[in-house]
Amino acid sequence: MSIIFYLVLWYNLNVMQNVLITGAAGFLGSHLCDRFIKEGFRVIGMDNLITGDMKNIEHLFPLPQFEFYHHDVTKFVHIPGKLDYILHFASPASPIDYLKIPIQTLKVGSLGTHNLLGLAKEKNARILIASTSEVYGDPLLHPQSEDYYGNVNTIGPRGVYDEAKRFMEAITMAYHRFHGLETRIVRIFNTYGPRMRLNDGRVIPAFIGQALRGEDLTVFGDGLQTRSFCYIDDQINGIYKLLMSEYSEPINIGNPEEITIKSFAQEIIEQTQKKVKIKYLPLPEGDPMKRKPDISKAKEILNWLPEIDRKKGIEKTIEYFKDFSDERLYQSDHRNFYANQ
Ligand code: UDP
Repeated sequence: MSIIFYLVLWYNLNVMQNVLITGAAGFLGSHLCDRFIKEGFRVIGMDNLITGDMKNIEHLFPLPQFEFYHHDVTKFVHIPGKLDYILHFASPASPIDYLKIPIQTLKVGSLGTHNLLGLAKEKNARILIASTSEVYGDPLLHPQSEDYYGNVNTIGPRGVYDEAKRFMEAITMAYHRFHGLETRIVRIFNTYGPRMRLNDGRVIPAFIGQALRGEDLTVFGDGLQTRSFCYIDDQINGIYKLLMSEYSEPINIGNPEEITIKSFAQEIIEQTQKKVKIKYLPLPEGDPMKRKPDISKAKEILNWLPEIDRKKGIEKTIEYFKDFSDERLYQSDHRNFYANQ
């Protein structure tokens, strides 16, 4: 009986398609691991855990079709056996991270991407890389479509992330054109949901955490800057569809419903039903004034549209953070980083 079980398992693991996901312990990476497991893949997760959290993937450890490598992709990446797909999602992703670990941010987008493209070429695998709306910088075109070249400050505090991601796109297209590699590029706009780091400094976990602790919400600047927030499940659907499509140029995936940060703070106060106020702090340097994706390409080429509205998505996210112990809710991490500058 048990021999048959192991033979079936061995057979399945050998015929299953293999996918490598870097940044597997992160917010997007861990949701991608879940999705690919659900789709019947064998998933190899990789993370160096500088911003990722093992809690995000611990539920996958008992599964024989999941494997984890604690590895930094800026160093040579070796995976034994066949590999069908690679998704490169390893990167710090919060503006405070870019200030605290700028060199690692640059290296994972440049050296890390180079290593993974090399691995994809060696394995004849299709690779999807995680680019960002930040390639548009503080955009002069609104909403942002894929043919806009952007308005990026190379030497500002966000330059380390923006330029790493721009280099990432350039080298990916070079491998596609020169080596004929199967490549996909997703430009991810602000995405949120369960498993974001509570105190990583980004606006959604920051506001929800503050409200749950009964603290005032810190709005930066006059709060009239805008963002467009996409729920994680929609984002993962878009990425999955792009990977399986035949399209090799960049595609925006995000929710075009735009809101000012000030109105968003008011929404969070209403939805958490906490008696807290808004507190204004200085706008961090290089903070883009507006951001909204033009998703016509995703709609037309991938037949993708976001389905979860902000109210519903925020409700699910609040539910997730509500379950945190006080210890986690009050952990320092990046809390009040800007306020203490
Ligand atoms: N923001 C804010 N208060 C906070 C954190 C962020 O007002 O406690 C603002 C920030 O200045 C920016 C927007 O919210 O205008 C989104 O910031 P986030 O760091 O989430 O992502 P970004 O889109 O800037 O990369």
